[in-house]
Amino acid sequence: MAVKNPMTSCRIGLGYDIHRTKLPANGGAASVVLGGIEITAPFSLDGHSDADVLLHAITDAILGALADHDIGHYFPPGDEKNRNRKSADFLVFALGRMRSAGYEIANLDCNLICEQPKIAPVRHQLRGAVADLLGVSIDRVSIKGRTNEKLDAAGRGEAIICQAIVLLNEIR
Ligand SMILES: [Zn+2]
Repeated sequence: MAVKNPMTSCRIGLGYDIHRTKLPANGGAASVVLGGIEITAPFSLDGHSDADVLLHAITDAILGALADHDIGHYFPPGDEKNRNRKSADFLVFALGRMRSAGYEIANLDCNLICEQPKIAPVRHQLRGAVADLLGVSIDRVSIKGRTNEKLDAAGRGEAIICQAIVLLNEIR
């Protein structure tokens, strides 16, 4: 009788995204969307969809783990269907691809790199929102905020950068 491999097969994926900041045209209040949550900020983020840099990086990490193209392949920025679209749609799509391939999320770790908005006060809320979207418990989701020491685009407030790494376990 064949001995079943006791090790679950797993796959790792890396996601990266950057969005430019833009000042509100009327000089009024502005906000960014992170993890599907609107957060007050001195600027908003430029992008064809809702510019959710966090969900885009996570989506790309999942697709990357599956070696399944990338977010731009499935949702081209020039496609009118994607204008102002909620980025949760992109993530739900990637999760569907993941489940059909027979995998589930083991854990996720993200870096949000920006001077503003401050991530620490909303960190728990962001983790909860992402865990809900992924359908996993919050202890599987890490989101860390850090500045770029005022260096480069993220440090000058010209962009927000997100890195995400995800581990998928084969569903047994
Ligand atoms: Zn993006």
